[in-house]
Amino acid sequence: MITIKVFVPTYFDKFKCIADKCPDTCCIGWEVDIDPETAQKYTAIDGKLGDKIKKHLVRDETGCDIFTLCAGDRCPFLNECNLCEIQLNSGEEYLSKTCTLFPRFYDDFGKIREMGLGFGCPEAARLLLEDNEPFSLEFYDECVAEVEDIDEDFLGELIALRAEIFTILEEDNLNFKKKIEKIFDISIDFQKRLDGKQFIDKTQHRSFDTCLTILENMEYIKEERKEFVKNLHSKKLSKNTLNLYRSDFEKLMKYYIFRYLLKACYDYDVLTKVKYGVFACIVISRIYDFVGFPDLETRVKIMYSYSKEVEYSDINMDLLDEMLYNDFDTEDLIGLL
Ligand code: SF4
Repeated sequence: MITIKVFVPTYFDKFKCIADKCPDTCCIGWEVDIDPETAQKYTAIDGKLGDKIKKHLVRDETGCDIFTLCAGDRCPFLNECNLCEIQLNSGEEYLSKTCTLFPRFYDDFGKIREMGLGFGCPEAARLLLEDNEPFSLEFYDECVAEVEDIDEDFLGELIALRAEIFTILEEDNLNFKKKIEKIFDISIDFQKRLDGKQFIDKTQHRSFDTCLTILENMEYIKEERKEFVKNLHSKKLSKNTLNLYRSDFEKLMKYYIFRYLLKACYDYDVLTKVKYGVFACIVISRIYDFVGFPDLETRVKIMYSYSKEVEYSDINMDLLDEMLYNDFDTEDLIGLL
């Protein structure tokens, strides 16, 4: 067995699912993968629940076990109170790994595992928006059977860059735009060292409408959210909300940097990871403006809706990644702040 270090933000253990009080659900619209271990457990359940599981558990075209969705794209085991029938009947240990984990996420980088809370759940989003402590991580040891080989020196450089970005985000005397300019400056220097002469970052004069076009080309769990995005075209939306709700956007940036920056140790694309956060801040700030001085409940709803639609779809994240890499340069994004 190999000992790894598991890092979690200090707010991590404060999360508690609010179950039937939740304004959303974990799974509507998603075909949740049932891991082989859990699928095996399900075959041993008998009685009415066992029969229902057998009826709905199928293998998809990629070879993953999933539950077929019912009307309204609901999991067949989600009851009328939006509670999970399997959990109610058999206990939490019968939930699949995906269902147990959500809204937590984890990523492994050699002997380091990082865990966090995703913005895609209303309660996690509320916790992330209400947390006013400086970002810090705690760690504990865990034993695992194997770890992937990674470039540890490069990972160390990414961790140092991330710490620098967090310091900038926590500076008191800079407005949001100045912070992002500084963050882009150090990220561009870092990327230039990686790419050498191949590095390109020239303005392509993209507007906010181009951001909306990216969002319109995405797949959606809720079609009304796509319609909402279409409605934002041709609206005069102010950039001021970025400073009015600066604390929300600093937290959102920290979340994106924490969740995505170290993934560059696999593709060496640091700058696009930084752009994910800036793009989210631009779009969400315009939605705040469109709604007009949103209260906490509305801001939580906007944050988790964006996260659920964009971040939890591989198709959407691939599209965003490609567009931000090819079509949006740092000057374009700064111009929209
Ligand atoms: S979305 Fe979050 S709060 Fe709602 S049921 Fe799922 S884990 Fe609980």
